[in-house]
Amino acid sequence: MNKTICLLPGDGIGPEILAQAVAVLEAVAKKFGHEFRFESALVGGAAIDAVGDPLPEETLRTCRQADAVFLAAVGGPRWDSLPPEQRPEKGLLRIRKELGLFANLRPAMLFPELAGACLLRSDIAVRGLDLVVVRELTGDVYFGEPRGVEVRNGLRTGYNTMIYTEEEVRRIAWVAFETARKRRRKVCSVEKSNVLEASRLWKEVVLEVHRDYADVELSHMYVDNAAMQLVRDPAQFDVILTGNIFGDILSDEAAVITGSLGMLPSASLGASAPGLFEPIHGSAPDLAGQDKANPLATILSGAMLLRLGCDLPQEAEAVETAVRKTLADGFRTQDIMEPGMKAVGCKEMGARVVERLLS
Ligand code: NAD
Repeated sequence: MNKTICLLPGDGIGPEILAQAVAVLEAVAKKFGHEFRFESALVGGAAIDAVGDPLPEETLRTCRQADAVFLAAVGGPRWDSLPPEQRPEKGLLRIRKELGLFANLRPAMLFPELAGACLLRSDIAVRGLDLVVVRELTGDVYFGEPRGVEVRNGLRTGYNTMIYTEEEVRRIAWVAFETARKRRRKVCSVEKSNVLEASRLWKEVVLEVHRDYADVELSHMYVDNAAMQLVRDPAQFDVILTGNIFGDILSDEAAVITGSLGMLPSASLGASAPGLFEPIHGSAPDLAGQDKANPLATILSGAMLLRLGCDLPQEAEAVETAVRKTLADGFRTQDIMEPGMKAVGCKEMGARVVERLLS
């Protein structure tokens, strides 16, 4: 199979971790007889430095022509003093908007080999954690109008608008039910319908979509309860379906309880444009250029790219298995290091995964 993949290395540790993930994809191509064409483009601080724009038109064009977009991370202290519109992170928000990436899939998984890093009590951790947060990405209070800060009755007043159309809810609900069908067939829709009208519509539409998915079990939960249940009993969740702001918070919570930011991948999908695949962590400027970063979140994002962006599920599984075996072999970057394990840098971790993949 021939596929074109747009690479966006970005800033900080971005180029280092992406290089390892590309080496893994090249090994996949060799093992399974595919041809991947990689096209690199500028994004974030690197693009600001080169052409003064965090998302140059040329980058957008390269993304649109690709089958999938593979992003590492953007940002860093160097660009922190720029006005919000010109900062590296703006490039990321714009790329999601421009490609219409309305669905963000974030699996949170506790690798048995890394159970020691989990922040939960061992009697809870032992029940396992293997869930996906399906978060709506282009609507809600982050984009709703009107928004602003103004003086009302002599007081400075800030306001935003939580808003969802039925179509926006329908298409993300569809993604969640389809995702559940490939997993344990359970969707928990998270909202705040006891207080918010936008959430009441959300629940109504999710129930309507569910009529086409009788084989998937649907439950509903208020977001405050969901935040508690994630630490009390995360094993109950398979797919969590939620809006932009609730998903932002819950997906970070789900990620951090696994204890290893450097392990977690994500995918953002649209109706037709290429999907965007990226690790959930940032550009870790404190580690940049030192061969210390953990490349596994990016390598696992590469597995999501194979499964969801290229429709190559067997190849995706081969990458995930290679990562597991590498961990079982005892190799650890410093962020997931435990006594008795073998410390490796970013490059060696990538090389070990490639070795396992090809063995
Ligand atoms: P961060 O995720 O970059 O780092 C948080 C902590 O986790 C740091 O201690 C870092 O060393 C560690 N860490 C992160 N990734 C790691 C990896 N792969 N291996 C080992 N350790 C890792 O978050 P931050 O420090 O809040 O932000 C740094 C910069 O990244 C900021 O400019 C921020 O805006 C940007 N950022 C970008 C994205 C993105 O590109 N999607 C996401 C979050 C933050």
